[in-house]
Amino acid sequence: MNARLEVDLDAFAANLAVVRERVAPAHHMLVVKDDAYGHGLVPVIRRARNEGVRWFGAFDVRTGCAVRAELGSDVRVFAWILASRDEIAAAVDAELDLGIGDAGLLEDVAAVAGSREAARPVRVHVKVDTGLHRNGVRPEEWPQFAARTAALARRGAIEVAGLWSHISEASDADDDAARAGFESAIRIFRAAGVTAPVRHLAASAAAFARPEFRYDLVRIGAFAYGIRSAGGASAARLRIRPIATLRAPVVSVGVDGARIALGAFDGLPSTLAGRILVGTPGGPRALREIAHTDSLVAGWPGASVGQSVAVFGAAPVAPHSATGVAETIHTIGEEIATRLSPLVERVYVGE
Ligand SMILES: *Cc1c(COP(=O)(O)O)cnc(C)c1O
Repeated sequence: MNARLEVDLDAFAANLAVVRERVAPAHHMLVVKDDAYGHGLVPVIRRARNEGVRWFGAFDVRTGCAVRAELGSDVRVFAWILASRDEIAAAVDAELDLGIGDAGLLEDVAAVAGSREAARPVRVHVKVDTGLHRNGVRPEEWPQFAARTAALARRGAIEVAGLWSHISEASDADDDAARAGFESAIRIFRAAGVTAPVRHLAASAAAFARPEFRYDLVRIGAFAYGIRSAGGASAARLRIRPIATLRAPVVSVGVDGARIALGAFDGLPSTLAGRILVGTPGGPRALREIAHTDSLVAGWPGASVGQSVAVFGAAPVAPHSATGVAETIHTIGEEIATRLSPLVERVYVGE
């Protein structure tokens, strides 16, 4: 008897429909980093493709190549973390769209593209830094970078497919400042003859709340999986719901409660002990202790070995969503979802 994460792909499809309706006419890039936020990459991307998703945000090249191998050539796959020349070569061969925010990397990509005799120019999305100071071309370098991309594009090595940035979504004021920066980047690149057809800036929160942030494409992960923002709008208001429920079987029952087969080694933060309720056959009960490989739940009448306890996920079975759990220890739902051990089996409904 083991814990498992039950992923409801029909609920996922419903969330995708809500995302699409919300952001139209912008397109939705489904972000699938960290094994599709812990839900399992392949079933998620297959269903998304069947639901009409045509852009996938992979983060790293390995994930990007896995998406390409699974879905074939009629989708766009975006990767923005390139660690080595080998990875660049793999990404070029898999015809990934590449996010580039560094002058040296741009030269490496152009050089690899020239040496691979790819069927088409490598599609590059220039990442501009609009205040987050993660990777991204700094504002003082925009004119020079724009001129260089224009030259490489004329030579046929690359095609500038996109211009993008990432924003904090922590405050409207910061996001407004970032968007002003993005607008000036668009102007500077255009003046250099680079008109990137796909401009993208927003992730889940800004894409839902702020139409002017949508541009041509939005990169949404969390809300598609039904993971709302910690401290943000409710799932009901967003019209999304969690697509995964973590269930653990009862392995023993004693006077102090019921032990379930899920512990800190499975990725459950031990600081959750005493802070959350879990869904038992007798109703919500306190999660009292978290040990290495099991946890103790307050008892209920008729508790018996083999019964299932919902640790977090979709209501009404689980009292808390991943984000609800996260809020009790001041973190975010994505962290709860992605730290669940890959050894916990994922099972799919609606596959
Ligand atoms: C993770 C990520 C996203 C998706 O963010 P969500 O809040 O999960 O929608 C978008 N863009 C980038 C660059 C990311 O790393």
